[in-house]
Amino acid sequence: MDQQVTSNPALHSFTEIDATLHIHLKRYADALINDHNDCGNAIKNYFLSLLPISSTLRIYNDNGKLDLLVTTLVGHAKKLLHEFNDPLYPHLVREIGRVHYQHHIDPAWVIGCYRIYQKHFLTTIYHSDQIENSDRPLLCDAVNKLLFRDMALVLEGYWKAGELDHSNQRTKVNELQSQICNLLANLPQTIWSYDVVREEYLYLSPAKDETLPANEEIPIPYFSWTKQSEQAEIHAAWQRALHGECISIESATDLPDGSRRWYKRTFHPFADQNNKITRVDGVMEDITDSRQAHKRLLHMANTDTLTGLANRNLWYDRAKQALAITSRESERQVAVLLLDLNRFKYINDTLGHPVGDLILRMVAQRLKDVLRSSDTIARFGGDEFAVLLPSIDDGMVVAQRVAGKIQDCFQTPFKHGSHELHLGASIGISLYPQDGHDLAVLMRRADIAMYTSKRQHLPFQFHKPGLEEEYDRKLRIGGQIKEAILNHEFQLLYQPRMRMNGNGIDGVEALIRWQHPQQGMLTPDQFLPHAEQSGLMAELSDWILRSALQQAQDWRELGLNIPVSINISARSFQNQNFVASIKHALSNSNAPPQSLELEITENTLMNHSERSVKTVKELADIGVNIAIDDFGTGFSSLSHLKQLPVKLLKIDGSFINNMTHCTRDSAVVSSVIDMGHKLGFEVSAEGVEHLDTFTSLQHMGCDQAQGYHIGMPMVGDQLASWLQQQAKAC
Ligand code: C2E
Ligand code: CA
Ligand code: CA
Repeated sequence: MDQQVTSNPALHSFTEIDATLHIHLKRYADALINDHNDCGNAIKNYFLSLLPISSTLRIYNDNGKLDLLVTTLVGHAKKLLHEFNDPLYPHLVREIGRVHYQHHIDPAWVIGCYRIYQKHFLTTIYHSDQIENSDRPLLCDAVNKLLFRDMALVLEGYWKAGELDHSNQRTKVNELQSQICNLLANLPQTIWSYDVVREEYLYLSPAKDETLPANEEIPIPYFSWTKQSEQAEIHAAWQRALHGECISIESATDLPDGSRRWYKRTFHPFADQNNKITRVDGVMEDITDSRQAHKRLLHMANTDTLTGLANRNLWYDRAKQALAITSRESERQVAVLLLDLNRFKYINDTLGHPVGDLILRMVAQRLKDVLRSSDTIARFGGDEFAVLLPSIDDGMVVAQRVAGKIQDCFQTPFKHGSHELHLGASIGISLYPQDGHDLAVLMRRADIAMYTSKRQHLPFQFHKPGLEEEYDRKLRIGGQIKEAILNHEFQLLYQPRMRMNGNGIDGVEALIRWQHPQQGMLTPDQFLPHAEQSGLMAELSDWILRSALQQAQDWRELGLNIPVSINISARSFQNQNFVASIKHALSNSNAPPQSLELEITENTLMNHSERSVKTVKELADIGVNIAIDDFGTGFSSLSHLKQLPVKLLKIDGSFINNMTHCTRDSAVVSSVIDMGHKLGFEVSAEGVEHLDTFTSLQHMGCDQAQGYHIGMPMVGDQLASWLQQQAKAC
């Protein structure tokens, strides 16, 4: 029996069954296993006595499956005795071991089973009368060898299966590991894992070609390439990671090729069961592009693209910061200056938006030049700018000085081609903390102050008590105008204009009033600017024109043929449909054109000189009379005046009121009268309150006069009675 049945030579020699033993086994094979029940019962009892699995086996037993197992085991003992010499037998037994491994059957049970076989066979050898006494020792030896060999084959199968399984798993792990390594190496990030105890890398992903050549510095790769001034911060972050904190840090790195890139390093610490940090994993990624994109976005989000100044967004951020900081410094203040350009709309409208944009850029540059870098200047949109003076000592003084400097930068006209453009700014100022603790309040107050500065032609205006209430009241008024027209709350008063040579009344001027349900009688200066701002002036002007023409018609029916003057606002006059609207109103009312006179202020006429001449000519062609109102307050050029087909010059009341006390005013009035006459105009004086003024004007040769001395503004019916009385008196 030379056949080597086990792969282990030692075991082979130890369990080799020679020819004699073979003969013995052959002879007594049936005798050894003739009593099936005995062997089966022994196996079954053995199983059931095994404490760790007895309860499981009992359930198994209840299903009858334990008997099946026992029968199989007895069958195996039989097979072993009869077929051990079959060349295929060892394979079969090893297969049993492999199946055991596969089903996780512990080798201890196998050994236990062979122990039962041994006990059964030895008992049989010593007690069976079928075995000759002299053969018993050799048979014992043969059975022992056979059992050990069989058990060894099962265990060998078991072991081989385990080995194969482990080697498969190792292969899989290796494949997975190489996949992961490839993956990590191909990631744009540098990844590493550092053993803190052994002070060495457990893993460091390879160099990223020329973009990031290899650098294996311990414990932080590429550390020495980091910008020197930022190394301390990275070192501190690493220390925090060693204390268990997961931390990210961005820094600039100078590469060997001289380029600078930005990297973000993240350190992930890992602790052992004792909470001791044993490993830190790191990721280092190139954030240069995203950082630049972020910077660009931030710039776009915070910059006014036209001027390059800060935009509203950034200005508000800085303002909030300034308030927060100053709230902790009791002595300090913050100033908010809002400025709005004067006459910018005119430039934009007349010279076009590209020129407007150019001017805005020039304004921005001049403002930048006069302000400090610690101040924030922003364009909020259109021609609106805001200046923030953070943390200043004496708010009033500093803000006033800055407002003065801003005004100074408008002294020099802005040049564009042959044009010299004169611009100005209105400035509203509010101060933290005295004008408000909240940015929204400060902004509103600066805004209202800015409107006040604009309306009152002041270089700047600080917030002061009362401004806000006044503004709110006016805003409310603006909102109520439309309804007031429908509710017939407006009224026209008529003030007579008298010929000074005693030839009676030359005309009456329509002056608007608002009988406000809550605020009582409002004069034009209290609501006309708001009608203009809220875009309702056209509607109101239409109403004035219709009412005045209707009144003239009513008077004519009473036999009073008296022309009515109406005041024309600058905006109405500049409206392209202005002449058409006058024609339309005249044709609707059946009133002759001569019954209508239009008072246009000197400033309005001079502002758009070429267009004004054309409009006034068109009106004169219709037959409507034109008077120049508030004469003396503007800067008329004689050459321009000469071209206007105007009937009347009305000298502004401000000169008339003072002329009896002030020789200068008297001289102005006298020379205006002379000049008017020379140009072929009639001249009227406004605001004549006293007899001595009236007399002086008569001496100066003034043609007409209007004022309380002659007659107050009156409602239509009153004026009719007044005229009738005048006629009687004459
Ligand atoms: P204005 O065109 O210069 O009108 C003359 C103003 O002087 C009127 O003020 C009139 O009541 C006032 N007045 C008349 N006689 C005297 C006097 O002897 N002494 C003084 N101190 N004042 C006198 P009112 O009605 O308050 O109008 C103010 C301005 O409002 C007008 O100035 C005119 O520019 C504007 N306005 C009035 N009604 C209308 C209107 O229907 N349409 C437009 N667009 N503007 C109007
Ligand atoms: Ca007037
Ligand atoms: Ca006037």
